[in-house]
Amino acid sequence: MNNDSKNVKNLIESAENLSKELFSQINDIAFFNQKKVLDAFKKYRVSARHLSQTSGYGYDDIGRDTLCNLFADIFKTDSAIVSPIIASGTHALTIALFGILRPNDILLSVTGKPYDTLDDVINGKNIGSLADFGIKYDQIDLNGSSLDFDKIERYLIKTTPKVLFLQRSQGYLWREPLNIAEIEKLKQLRDKYCPNTCIMVDNCYGEFTSTTEPTEYGADVVIGSLIKNMGGGLAPTGAYIAGKTEFLTQIGYRLTSSSIGTEVGSYAYGYTQFYQGLFLAPRVVGDALKGSVLSGNVFKLLGIESNPAPDKMPRDVIRAIKFNNRENLITFCKQIQANSPIDSYVEPEPWAMPGYNDEVIMAAGTFVQGASIELSADGPIKPPYIGYLQGGLTYEHIKIAITEVVKSIIQN
Ligand SMILES: *Cc1c(COP(=O)(O)O)cnc(C)c1O
Repeated sequence: MNNDSKNVKNLIESAENLSKELFSQINDIAFFNQKKVLDAFKKYRVSARHLSQTSGYGYDDIGRDTLCNLFADIFKTDSAIVSPIIASGTHALTIALFGILRPNDILLSVTGKPYDTLDDVINGKNIGSLADFGIKYDQIDLNGSSLDFDKIERYLIKTTPKVLFLQRSQGYLWREPLNIAEIEKLKQLRDKYCPNTCIMVDNCYGEFTSTTEPTEYGADVVIGSLIKNMGGGLAPTGAYIAGKTEFLTQIGYRLTSSSIGTEVGSYAYGYTQFYQGLFLAPRVVGDALKGSVLSGNVFKLLGIESNPAPDKMPRDVIRAIKFNNRENLITFCKQIQANSPIDSYVEPEPWAMPGYNDEVIMAAGTFVQGASIELSADGPIKPPYIGYLQGGLTYEHIKIAITEVVKSIIQN
């Protein structure tokens, strides 16, 4: 070994030592969630017939219906919709919003601006947006990383929104993900001022990162993608919506048709990957969390700041890394790509992506196209040159990729 690689090896070992306490907590969380998932499988007596393919209308599709029951059980809700015909997380969020909101209703986001892909869903002009249907939108920004309860209360005293909307993950912002226990106090305000209002949570990236879910603190509906946490890296497509039956029924009418709801929907490829992915998800999310903690400590030792703080339990599977340096951000993304199982030989370059003001660089060498529970990285090419690291199916893979990132950054 030359000096550089010896130094890198020592640095990674030191980072692993710094990570021990959180690793042990993550093991406990994964264990708890694995049991939660297994208990649901046992309760619903899952067997080979649930994995089978169906066709046509899919009446009495027991694979589909039981998958919904498992999600409802895991989120401790009355109902769930889990479906490969939902194209993405954005699609699921859209169905949920349109399912519940009616003309002149108000959608109030209490975690600031929602995820970028919802901009046009809420405010687009002449594209069938909520605004096009006369649904109003208001927003209350977070106070740091917390809900601004004073502002929310002052708002609710005067106005009754139909949906109180929250985003759990940080998304692509330099803040901490929401502490979902705060939803308990939001529910108290809701119960006091507007008891019929739906508390809806964009749960993307947050599932299984702790032993509880937003629905255990009073969220009425949670929504997420199956090519993120809940698909365990195996689900090839789809999304879920879980929550109270009164809301899920309305959402079901929007998913298919007002005359049909959730009685139809087949899947000709069978449901094995959805069941098996769900079964593996607690472990996969645990490994992604460990990879996030490890990389946080690695960058800390390199003097590079990242978010969340490396000594704090991450509340989602994204880590934001402030490189303060264009070259290092590009090197980071190139090395993640070069150490991916798919397209390792491809070299990503910054490019002007539609919808973005700045050039963006992306690394995504994934089995499932765009799956961000698999190891991926990206960042806009602008100061302070923040890169985002997401997912990772195994801890070992993340460790290998981060080791190569460090080697390249040291050589820069
Ligand atoms: C991924 C994500 C979504 C949905 O995005 P899709 O790419 O459509 O699945 C929404 N909100 C957050 C916070 C997300 O991370």
